[in-house]
Amino acid sequence: MVLRIFLRQVITLCCGLLWLAPVALWAQPLEAGVPGTGARDVTPHWAWLQDASNRRTLEQVQQAYASGQFTAAQGAETALSFGFTPSAYWLRLALHNPADQASAQMLEIANPRISSVEFYAPDATGIYRAVRTGGDQPFATRAVANRQFVLPLELAPHTLQVIYLRVQSTIGLIVPGQLWPAQDFAHHVRNDYTVQAGYFGIAVAMLLFNLMLFIALRDRIYLLYAAYVVCALLTIASKNGLAAEFLWPDTLVWSNFSYFASASMALLALTAFTRDMLSTATALPRMDRLLRALMGVHLLAPVVYWLAIRTVAPLTIAVFMLTTLVLIGVGLWCVFKCMRSAYIYTGAFVLLFAGGMMTLMRTLGWLPTNVFTVNGMQLGSSLEMMLLAFALADRFNLLRREKLQAQRALMQTLQTTERQLTQRVEERTQQLQILNDKLEALTLVDDLTGVANRRQFDQVLHKEWLRMERLRQPLALLMLDVDWFKPFNDHYGHQAGDQCLRAVATAVACLSRTSDLVARYGGEEFVLIAPATDSESAMALARRACEAVQALALEHVRSDKGVITISVGVAALASGTGHTAEELLRAADAALYQAKAWGRNQAVLAGGF
Ligand code: GH3
Ligand code: MG
Ligand code: MG
Repeated sequence: MVLRIFLRQVITLCCGLLWLAPVALWAQPLEAGVPGTGARDVTPHWAWLQDASNRRTLEQVQQAYASGQFTAAQGAETALSFGFTPSAYWLRLALHNPADQASAQMLEIANPRISSVEFYAPDATGIYRAVRTGGDQPFATRAVANRQFVLPLELAPHTLQVIYLRVQSTIGLIVPGQLWPAQDFAHHVRNDYTVQAGYFGIAVAMLLFNLMLFIALRDRIYLLYAAYVVCALLTIASKNGLAAEFLWPDTLVWSNFSYFASASMALLALTAFTRDMLSTATALPRMDRLLRALMGVHLLAPVVYWLAIRTVAPLTIAVFMLTTLVLIGVGLWCVFKCMRSAYIYTGAFVLLFAGGMMTLMRTLGWLPTNVFTVNGMQLGSSLEMMLLAFALADRFNLLRREKLQAQRALMQTLQTTERQLTQRVEERTQQLQILNDKLEALTLVDDLTGVANRRQFDQVLHKEWLRMERLRQPLALLMLDVDWFKPFNDHYGHQAGDQCLRAVATAVACLSRTSDLVARYGGEEFVLIAPATDSESAMALARRACEAVQALALEHVRSDKGVITISVGVAALASGTGHTAEELLRAADAALYQAKAWGRNQAVLAGGF
């Protein structure tokens, strides 16, 4: 309900129906104020006449007034509003100077976008002089160099002076009029330009800063922001007349064209910025399509403004409002979706919106006229720009944090992978070690009998020899050979021979101590290394070996003993005798030969050690 009333008010404002009374009443003259009393609102003192032909002259208008064709303005509003109309309007104002001395006054029409403004004021001789200026005229046509249209007046004491004003606009025609004592106006201008300079200073600083960020970071969102700031600046500068005064004073740029075109460009940049900021392409794909369509509309809009601004002006306002509402809607939706970047973005928008609302409400008379309400748009816009810059900073921070998190996650993954890899390598190394050990063991063991092989025997003999020398202990070596093994093989077969060899090896190994080593020396010959064993003990061991093998009772029909027997050659030496391991081996072999010769199945001790 409230919204409907509000909308009706806005529409009425545009159509200019609310404040224009249909009844003709003679407007009261306006009394010129003395310095220090500030501006007086001219609006209630206007009488107006519509000139649909656009051709009326001042004389014709004066006659029309005399014949009562003028309408008196009414109400306490601060501006006359005639809506979107191609007609020219004539405004008549009677000024009265009740003072005893002349009064310097300034008539200010505070809407720089009225396309054509013609002031008619009588000079000292009473002849009307015209000042023809307007938003579509070069700046030099103005009577006073000011962003608004200002007419200086010199009111003689105790006189009534009648001023005529002819206005016409390509868009909605709104005529806010104020009368200032000249001194007060000078003071007002100083304050006014200070506020404008403050706003533009902030905006330019934001612009340069973000351009530098764009150059440094190469993120196009900063460029979009900068583009938005430039276009927003142009829009506001066109709206408040500063563009006509400072940017293109001599060029004929229609103020309403530049206003609409730069507003469209600002909305285009802002929509692009929003799409990047809120990642709408991924977050809201359907809405993103609408945003792109709106961008297309705003991109083409300047051409349409150039060709037919008067026709499209009412529609343009609707498109501006639609775009703004869509952008706010997208922002709110993203806030609803708890998107962090949307919070500040939407806050910035709300500020701009509030600024715009403040200006509109002042125009509607709902808010008093003061520096905040008059410059509501600038205030909202500068706060918006700052908040958007803050949103950019926040976004940068967020991206940096995300990058750091990703890096940390990557580091963790790398560390875990490295740990797993190290663990696997360790496991593999262990497995390899076990296999190596097995392989090593295999290379040291005799396949057939399971006792040490010749290789291990050589290594152990070398080691034991060194230890014997170091510890000065005795060392004994037994060489064992199966008797009549060839006949055994011939008689019982090779496999039986193998089994016999295994049995003999096991029997001998069972006799030996853990420090001893039993090895297969080759064929049916075995050796036994007995560390720290003297000749007597060695001989005892050798005899026990003979007995043990005989006790196996392995049948051997081709031996005179009837069973398998062995002969043993024993060589033992104490350390430091100056012999070598080879000599010991040879001595044992010789003793074995002797045992064979002496009838086999016996042990013989080598002499000479
Ligand atoms: P001696 O009492 O003089 O030692 O007579 P011998 O027959 O035992 O001696 P000889 O050196 O003539 O024979 C050794 C035999 O051992 C010859 C070979 O066929 C046999 N032999 C060698 N290695 C193996 C083996 O790995 N398996 C089997 N079955 N026989 C083997
Ligand atoms: Mg032999
Ligand atoms: Mg033999």
